[in-house]
Amino acid sequence: MSVEDVELIFVPGPGIGHIVPAIEVGKLMLDEHTRLAITFLLINDPVIREYTNSSGFHYNPRLRLLTLPEPEEGKSPSSDFRTKSELPPVKALVNVDRHKPLVREAVLGIMMKTRSRVVGFVVDMFCLSMTDVADEFSIPNYVFFTSGADFLSLMMTMRRLTDEDGIDITEFKDSDQEFSVAGFLNPVPAKVMPSMMLDKNGGSDAAMSTARRIRKSRGIFINTFQELEPNIIQSLSNSNDDDQMPPIYAVGPLLNLETKPESRFSDIINWLDLQPRKSVVFLCFGSEGGFSEEQIKHLGAALETSGRRFLWSLRRRKQRDSSIPVEILPEGFLQRTNGVGRVIGWAPQAAVLSHAAVGGFVSHCGWNSVLESMWCGVPMAAWPLYAEQQVNAFQVVAELGVAVEVRVDYREDTEIVVSAEEIAAAIERLMERESGVRERAAEMREKSSAAVVGGGSSRKFLASLVRDILHNSSG
Ligand code: UDP
Repeated sequence: MSVEDVELIFVPGPGIGHIVPAIEVGKLMLDEHTRLAITFLLINDPVIREYTNSSGFHYNPRLRLLTLPEPEEGKSPSSDFRTKSELPPVKALVNVDRHKPLVREAVLGIMMKTRSRVVGFVVDMFCLSMTDVADEFSIPNYVFFTSGADFLSLMMTMRRLTDEDGIDITEFKDSDQEFSVAGFLNPVPAKVMPSMMLDKNGGSDAAMSTARRIRKSRGIFINTFQELEPNIIQSLSNSNDDDQMPPIYAVGPLLNLETKPESRFSDIINWLDLQPRKSVVFLCFGSEGGFSEEQIKHLGAALETSGRRFLWSLRRRKQRDSSIPVEILPEGFLQRTNGVGRVIGWAPQAAVLSHAAVGGFVSHCGWNSVLESMWCGVPMAAWPLYAEQQVNAFQVVAELGVAVEVRVDYREDTEIVVSAEEIAAAIERLMERESGVRERAAEMREKSSAAVVGGGSSRKFLASLVRDILHNSSG
């Protein structure tokens, strides 16, 4: 390997589910090549600040953090993102895009100061418009895909229908259409497509522009592992010639499991310590998920009827703190379930999932939650809310058999209410031994740890990724 000092510039996306795996993959790349340094250009976001300032964050002098200033107010987004869409992922993309001039300035500063050769520019899947900056400086760019290969494959299928077959994919909204998506064993229903792809107000255009930019990159590294999505990874890798896909590297699961739960969570862990093995149902819906008040009443009633022990992370939408909105629970719920279950705010999710008392996870199927659940061998009940969670839910239920279904096509903005009976039945299927999900999740636990040890599939992909980055920059 070269003895020259080399550098990567990495723009992680906003949100906990983007920054954690970005830092984790960065650390692994530094271990792979001792003359490599990585500068992370961080969007000035409270979640990112909180994480990078936390005690569990281990600095390495070759891992540098540079927080970008706030973008100018009213700066108009570039052409990809002139949209009227009010969908949260689209608004997040537009906000990231406003940072483009700041990223350009930061890259210029790095190029002028560094004595190392800048060998690549890595952008999170939410920051694809920044690839223009890499092109201006003639730096090869790579995409860091924090979701699963399932979503990448769906995106590529929709891009092909749009660009090559001239189909307006927004027409599939609310339709019963099904698609053949590369690597999926079953036809994929339009009902599990992300709302953004179906959005006529510009969301779909932004999603397709993202897909086109991904295809033009020099490589895509995905937070997944070969054994979890073997057929999809294989089909994406084989489509290089016809579909001009860049190389795919499955380098996950990228999880931060080193952090011991903070002391503020010790009473939750102490409570779990008192529960029998695999007896507790854990319910948690990501960093921003939440339900309508009516839906929460049904969920509460389902937990009461099921009689199972539970740990429920209940928060209002977009609330990351530990305050519990008790006023929206069914009246008397906390008294009646006292001793059987606990209602909490923010959960120490990784620590909870790895606790022996936890037997099932009712999850929104955010990709990090899927990976954490598989890492711990905990089966899921899939109840997606937004973004690409519906296709993840479809995959874990129909393709992998590691989850039972609550509703794989549920959406956060729906007026539909899933009844207490339906939820209680899903919890029973999740916790009973006959459904087989527990055994399949246990198998996946073995496979996920095998992927990340020396000689495992993800470590091999990581080594070839670093090799290819160096090779691509030398020509
Ligand atoms: N998380 C947590 N406690 C919570 C909610 C979420 O620790 O109460 C963590 C969870 O372990 C995961 C991340 O936040 O690592 C959420 O990422 P995911 O991709 O699952 O969902 P998103 O928040 O992006 O919807």
